[in-house]
Amino acid sequence: MILPAVIPRIVEMIPQVLPYDAHNEKLLANAHPLDWVNPEPASRYNLVVLGAGTAGLVSAAGAAGLGAKVALVEKHLLGGDCLNVGCVPSKALIRSARAFADVRDAGDFGVAVEPGARVDFARVMERMRRLRAQISPNDSAGRLRSLGVDVFLGAGRFTGPDTIDVDGKSLRFKKAVIATGARPSSPAIPGAVEAGYLTNETVFSLTELPARLAVIGAGPVGCELSQAFARFGSTVFLIPGRHQILGREDRDAAARIEKSLVRDGVRLLAGCRVKEVRNGAGAKRLILDGAGTTEELEVDQILFGVGRTPNVEHLGLGEAGVAFDLREGVKVDDGLRTTNRNIFAAGDVCFPFKFTHTADALARIVIQNALFRGRAKASDLVIPWCTYTDPELAHVGIDEAQAREKGMAVRTLVVEFSEVDRAVLDGEPEGLLKIHCAGRSDRILGATLVARHAGEMISEITLAMVCGQGLKSLSKTIHPYPTQAEVFRKAGDAFNRTRLTPLVKSLLARWLSWTR
Ligand SMILES: Cc1cc2nc3c(=O)[nH]c(=O)nc-3n(C[C@H](O)[C@H](O)[C@H](O)COP(=O)(O)OP(=O)(O)OC[C@H]3O[C@@H](n4cnc5c(N)ncnc54)[C@H](O)[C@@H]3O)c2cc1C
Repeated sequence: MILPAVIPRIVEMIPQVLPYDAHNEKLLANAHPLDWVNPEPASRYNLVVLGAGTAGLVSAAGAAGLGAKVALVEKHLLGGDCLNVGCVPSKALIRSARAFADVRDAGDFGVAVEPGARVDFARVMERMRRLRAQISPNDSAGRLRSLGVDVFLGAGRFTGPDTIDVDGKSLRFKKAVIATGARPSSPAIPGAVEAGYLTNETVFSLTELPARLAVIGAGPVGCELSQAFARFGSTVFLIPGRHQILGREDRDAAARIEKSLVRDGVRLLAGCRVKEVRNGAGAKRLILDGAGTTEELEVDQILFGVGRTPNVEHLGLGEAGVAFDLREGVKVDDGLRTTNRNIFAAGDVCFPFKFTHTADALARIVIQNALFRGRAKASDLVIPWCTYTDPELAHVGIDEAQAREKGMAVRTLVVEFSEVDRAVLDGEPEGLLKIHCAGRSDRILGATLVARHAGEMISEITLAMVCGQGLKSLSKTIHPYPTQAEVFRKAGDAFNRTRLTPLVKSLLARWLSWTR
């Protein structure tokens, strides 16, 4: 039962907590309890954290666990993008889309399924809301309080070099962390605002499947959601704009993802630019400009995934002496210190690799450097990432082009999954592994992997890189047969074969003839 007095506060959060069912009520009870009373501030905090997404939560919980007096300020929903409008809801949808694809393709495995399997979109979304609410206690205000953190709900703003105001209260700090994240960039397309559009902040509140969906932007979010909605039954038009799909990724790997999206029915409108959006009768009309022709496309919903803009406005950064840039975010050095020695930043607000696991890793660096005068560096991180299309595309470290830019000699080994028995048996032979090594050595500089569970598999390479282990170690490591991870042993074996020069081969042959 919603009390009239709290309705305005719910309305403020409309995009995330609608429809206001039992699941979203539970989410709200954890992520922004409406009856929350902010505590009386301590006289001074060791650490004040602004923003309770992943970077803020890890900073606050980690510092409190080490005995620091910590305040955490959140204006919206604890858990930030990841829990509420990012990783968690998107991966729940992707799992449902995969379940549909498995049923659709079951005939290839000899399983007779009745024709006409279809997705119940309302149930997919209800499942997502239920699971998101189920996960939300981890990030809840109550949990943080139980860890000893003073949680303040309200918009925080620096009022000086060592003070933040929230809800009319002043928090004095020795050190602070800015962890205010990023938001979807606004599309600069005439008519878009008037016609209305979805972003990641609103798409997870849909209750009805759009029959026709235009997705503008073909980065990870655009590609993941295009495929999911196409599998749900929408006619999806993916418009990459000036860029190719997954522009940051290896071109061969991205081409395989493109093929899988098209196979799932996504209509890729490459080379088109959206010039204008107009409101039609019950529909939205996109005016497309491409290859010298102008065309019109009618859709029911438009989803924008055209990049992320750091949240640096209205934070009083000027008063605090913190330099920032509207596009790049808060300026930090390698130790994540801002231009105010006592203020640090972590996560999407300051870092180009905008992922939950990087926000987490950066927060750990901040704790060391802010509270214990540590010298941890962001540049030492080995950063993997994954785009959760089907198959997935995962990457770690640097690629060939980046290695060459740095003047490094690089050798790339390629293994196709059609050579991996388990991938063939699983009906997933379209995968690919590319590993880049330094010069003629086995030292791994980076890798790209396309496989159904590439996100799970890439950690083997990340671990090898972190531990300074090379391809020879991958070759020596026994991998259970048959698994798709054998691809790494095969890469190790391929490296060993490159060492078999004609001279080495003839010496080995001579040795064997002596010992016959
Ligand atoms: C659709 C989508 C899917 C994604 N999927 C993945 C994935 O699968 N894997 C992955 O690693 N990453 C994924 N990401 C990226 C990931 O969500 C972000 O990188 C991560 O959430 C960043 O965490 P953060 O703490 O830096 O910022 P955020 O999570 O954005 O948190 C910042 C918080 O600060 C608060 N705040 C802002 N200003 C103030 C203020 N003045 N006072 C108080 N509070 C304030 C905000 O309300 C917010 O809660 C995805 C992103 C999107 C959009």
